Amino acid sequence: MAEDCIFCKIVAGELPAEKLDEDEHTVSFMDLNPWTRGHALVIPRNHSTNLYEIDDDDLRHSAVAARRLAKRIKDRLGCDGINLLNAAEPAAWQTVFHFHLHVIPRYEDDSLEVPTRPQEASAEDLAGVAEEIRG
Ligand code: AMP
Ligand code: ZN
Repeated sequence: MAEDCIFCKIVAGELPAEKLDEDEHTVSFMDLNPWTRGHALVIPRNHSTNLYEIDDDDLRHSAVAARRLAKRIKDRLGCDGINLLNAAEPAAWQTVFHFHLHVIPRYEDDSLEVPTRPQEASAEDLAGVAEEIRG
């Protein structure tokens, strides 16, 4: 458990949460500030700051729990789709530094908008970046 981590406190039962699901490795609960009706979070019980730090098994368990929850939300709320989102570092919108997956139900008439538009890139640009990533 990390000191001053609100999600560790939820795992420990020291902070309230509207829990949806729990297993040996994960806890799922409602997001306090939902983007859509039913927006939920899945967290590993073990503290890790973000995608770079999380242990492989905790990542697997979180993904499995997120899919289980997505199916249940689809079944119970009748949403039209689901977005699964993770934010790593503030530049990518991370605000709570305990790894979590957002399970965001989507509805045909919801108010969410794509936050950007895909940009065109030349084959040379793509090849150059790919080379940089491959190293
Ligand atoms: P992110 O910005 O990806 O780090 O996501 C953090 C999310 O945690 C935000 O969507 C917040 O609304 C949510 N959140 C923050 N505090 C709580 C809390 N105590 N219980 C439930 N959700 C929370
Ligand atoms: Zn934590």
